[in-house]
Amino acid sequence: MENTQKPLVNPVTRYPQPPFEKQPQEAPGIASKMSPVPDHGEESYKGSGRLSGRKALITGGDSGIGRAAAIAYAREGADVVINYLPEEQSDADEVIALIEAAGQKGYAIAGDITSEEFCKSLVEQAAARLGGIDILVNNAGRQHAVDSILDITTEGFDATIKTNIYAPFWITKAALPLLPAGAAIISTSSVQAYEPSENLFDYAQTKAANVAFVKSLAKQLGPKGIRVNGVAPGPVWTPLQISGGQPQDAIVKFGEVTPLGRPGQPAELASIYVELADSNSSYTTGQVYGAAGGSGNP
Ligand code: NAD
Ligand code: MG
Repeated sequence: MENTQKPLVNPVTRYPQPPFEKQPQEAPGIASKMSPVPDHGEESYKGSGRLSGRKALITGGDSGIGRAAAIAYAREGADVVINYLPEEQSDADEVIALIEAAGQKGYAIAGDITSEEFCKSLVEQAAARLGGIDILVNNAGRQHAVDSILDITTEGFDATIKTNIYAPFWITKAALPLLPAGAAIISTSSVQAYEPSENLFDYAQTKAANVAFVKSLAKQLGPKGIRVNGVAPGPVWTPLQISGGQPQDAIVKFGEVTPLGRPGQPAELASIYVELADSNSSYTTGQVYGAAGGSGNP
């Protein structure tokens, strides 16, 4: 008889540990050019029909945490639209191929979510292709480390706020009339909401705003049967970090300070996004789930 027992996995040694090579890329960065290439669950994620028939829109679904969610959602039986920036087409193409290999429909819609007009059109196009939307993952984000508040330009501040606060507002507002009872909205916040770093002054504020988004909107939409939850990751090995999210010196020791001594890989967060989308979590709303390797909140 085949041995179906799963081996125990030591989280400390499961994935690459620092030191890492310095590897600057222009934002938004390309996952396939990173060293080591992040694990988004391409080889490992196994579905069991938890999201069969669902229709998901995931922003920032080309790479990192959003890509891990997209792969997992497809393997759980959902059709998926991903949004990303045009520069990220090669990463997006890989994700669509993985969704299709899982036997689901995958659609790539490129465009800049700092435009309200594009956010509206993204939701319209996604709903048209999927035949509706019942899972919305507001995951795209901008993170640029700057040592001093004096060096944060109005343009930079504005870009962070537009991407991380306005875009989820615009996309959610456009999607809400289409969302049926039972739908789930999921935001990607951060440990930065709770333990802001000195060089992420603007970004940390937006991630705190994402928590307030979840807590407020869950109350507003509870009576309509729409759940709103968030995820607060710690350091995760993604293009966001190596393309200006951290100074290159910090990339070398990225994740070292956590009790697990390494950064998380996107694949390690996928099951949280599945859990929060799954109707079995029907009493879970207004919550923020942490995945930070032993440090951080909540
Ligand atoms: P990532 O670079 O893989 O994903 C971010 C994505 O945001 C990009 O792929 C890009 O498609 C999208 N994006 C950025 N600006 C955009 C714009 N103007 N228009 C459209 N799309 C845009 O990195 P990630 O780390 O997986 O980031 C996903 C989320 O996770 C972000 O909200 C980030 O704040 C959050 N987060 C990341 C970490 C981490 O350590 N990596 C920790 C906590 C929270
Ligand atoms: Mg990307």
